[in-house]
Amino acid sequence: MNFFYCKNCLMPSTRPRITFDEEGICNGCDWAKKKTTCIDWEARWKELEQLCNKYRCTDGTNWDVIVPCSGGKDSYSIAWSLKNRLDMHPLLVKVSAHIPTTVGDKNMRNLADQGFDLIEITPNMRTYCALTKRAIIEQGRPQQVFETAITTAILKIAVSFKIPFIMYGEEGESEYGGKMDMAEKASKNRNWIVETYFSGVDTMSYESDGVEKKDLKWWAFPRQDELDEMGICYTHWSYFQDWNHLMHYESAKKMGFQPVTSLSVEDGVVGFGTYTDYTSLDDPYMRTFNTYLMFLKFGFGRGSHEASSDIKRGIITREEGIKLAKKYDSYDCIHFREKLLERFEMSRKDWDQMVDRWANRAILEKTDGRWQLRKELHYALDINNYADIGKGS
Ligand SMILES: [Zn+2]
Repeated sequence: MNFFYCKNCLMPSTRPRITFDEEGICNGCDWAKKKTTCIDWEARWKELEQLCNKYRCTDGTNWDVIVPCSGGKDSYSIAWSLKNRLDMHPLLVKVSAHIPTTVGDKNMRNLADQGFDLIEITPNMRTYCALTKRAIIEQGRPQQVFETAITTAILKIAVSFKIPFIMYGEEGESEYGGKMDMAEKASKNRNWIVETYFSGVDTMSYESDGVEKKDLKWWAFPRQDELDEMGICYTHWSYFQDWNHLMHYESAKKMGFQPVTSLSVEDGVVGFGTYTDYTSLDDPYMRTFNTYLMFLKFGFGRGSHEASSDIKRGIITREEGIKLAKKYDSYDCIHFREKLLERFEMSRKDWDQMVDRWANRAILEKTDGRWQLRKELHYALDINNYADIGKGS
């Protein structure tokens, strides 16, 4: 099995569902180029206006669109546009972070100060933690249970409040290099969501030792016919507007969004795991933990992920991105590992076993007790850009 990188960004061939063209360019980069050349964004915006016209509540009796919201820069920007440019009445819905931060809470509260209605769903923490611990051990996916809830719990609110229009942020598969079949479609269905976002794991399988059906109300996924009956429109902002995280950051700052400086002071953590100071501030610990597992399994981490977006946007060069990837990708959560162990009732031995279990030995090697990308692969593939790594993991 050959291991190689996209010749434009830093995504490796081990990334799930990625594809490459004959020039060695990944589908995420290909899509980034198409977005500037082939997509009629004016027509897409008109499509959005029509959708808003279809769902808008004009008599003041209800909200008309749900914005799943972490309190991050993207949800700020989307909520503002829906309200002020499209005359909608958004209800912002957040699923609680496992380990909240002061700056994340402030950014969320500030949205209410800016005139938005918010709901925060805090699941039963015993169930939330038990399910997450299982996902860490069995799938190596610390955010699997949270990511499921930001679909299923949001749908529960949509059904309960009779708001069939749901506007997410970016569609990550097409945006970052994955399945492309939904890049050209405005609305997603249940099967596609289970297959793509939940890695084929339906929420019904969560019911097992110690977790009963009654504990899973926030993870109960309605059937497709129930969603059809309600006329659900489950869509992403990135379908209607070229996804530009820096533009969102600039507009969020105008609304009082705070970057990481507060996090470092008030939460006792200096920027870790990445070079940006404005991403995943509501739950940086779990986000960084999740990307560490991604690094162990596939050989790319949060540095590569964020640098690849910036390379595609022309904000940094590939060479600058490689330096950032080398610096941040193998960051092993050392500054907040104790928080994670406490949250999920794991011992240090459990942690070490979990890390060693997920480390992909075909691409990683352990140096000074820490898993690193093997030296011959370490982004030094510009020369011949592939290496035989045997069968992989
Ligand atoms: Zn690429």
